Amino acid sequence: MKDSSDINAIVGGYLRDLANAQASPQKAFGYKRAAAAIFDLDVPLTRLLDPDGNLGRIAGIGPGSERVIREVLELGMSPIVEEAVEHSTRRADIHRQRTLRQHFLSKAEVRRILSDTTLGGPALDQYLGDLQMHSEWSDGSPTVMDIAAACIARGYHYAAVTDHSHGLKIAGGMSMAEAAEQRRAIDAVNGECGDRFRLLQGIEANIDETGGLDLTAKESATFDIVLAAPHSRLRKSDDQTDRMLTAVGHPAVRILAHPRGRMSGARAGVAANWDAIFSAAADAGVAIEIDGDPARQDLDYTMARRALDSGCIFALDSDAHTTAQLAYAETALAHARLAEIPADRVVNCWPLDRLLGWLRDRSLERRS
Ligand SMILES: [Zn+2]
Repeated sequence: MKDSSDINAIVGGYLRDLANAQASPQKAFGYKRAAAAIFDLDVPLTRLLDPDGNLGRIAGIGPGSERVIREVLELGMSPIVEEAVEHSTRRADIHRQRTLRQHFLSKAEVRRILSDTTLGGPALDQYLGDLQMHSEWSDGSPTVMDIAAACIARGYHYAAVTDHSHGLKIAGGMSMAEAAEQRRAIDAVNGECGDRFRLLQGIEANIDETGGLDLTAKESATFDIVLAAPHSRLRKSDDQTDRMLTAVGHPAVRILAHPRGRMSGARAGVAANWDAIFSAAADAGVAIEIDGDPARQDLDYTMARRALDSGCIFALDSDAHTTAQLAYAETALAHARLAEIPADRVVNCWPLDRLLGWLRDRSLERRS
């Protein structure tokens, strides 16, 4: 596995630390905004230095943040931030949050990885369709027609719209009556797209505390693809291996989506014996997702590599809630490339007929 030395992520992390060390909410806001701007730059900070070593102007960056950036570029670390953290009353909390930012890639690093031809993983042009996104039918904003148009513009052959199921009220989960209505809208989209694009009706089912889903077997059968994802007990340190094994064992499930439920700088997600879960997923033909939402990046490339070694297949998805966020699939691809997952093991790189075969019978793609 290749490693990542991501200068923008390192600088962004220091700016988050500095934000967390501020007593004034206004100052904290400024550093947080600066951190977000650095994570979202298209190029590494080192490329913004002119021949004299001066840093060009960066939108959203004030003088305080600029001093930190210069320091990290020069020294590889920031004494200003370390000092502020050591004197902060939130010192312990800041150290804990640092551990919750591991293996997150900045946008510039994602770009670099996608163009690094020495990596063995799936290439952008092998990626045929995205299998997790949200529409106006739950907590997303686009219509299913907007989604189809945006996916076609990205060169996809297919995609799955995967709104939340009725158990997740907080995310505007769809009732089964709404799902039937959405199905008619998707059928209309497919009627217009003909052979060049296929929109699947998926659902993101919620994994409850014991590993059950908020869908009956009969309800699950009405969707083309069922994702199962944890949205609760994500800050607990107790072992939840049995919960996740139960979810993977549910016969309707094809993708274990954002498996850990981690969130950058905020929570570690589900604690479990992941190798046991990966092994069960590989035996069942359930795909392990790499969720490309920049705040999730779940699984990251180190965990994905362990899943690969367990014999898993993978889904690389954007988890988009707007059509612009479909680009988050590139973050998922970057992790897969660092983990050197062969394209053949990535369900999004399969032609539609192989994908549909697996959706009918997941055991077709289980570990041999
Ligand atoms: Zn989710």
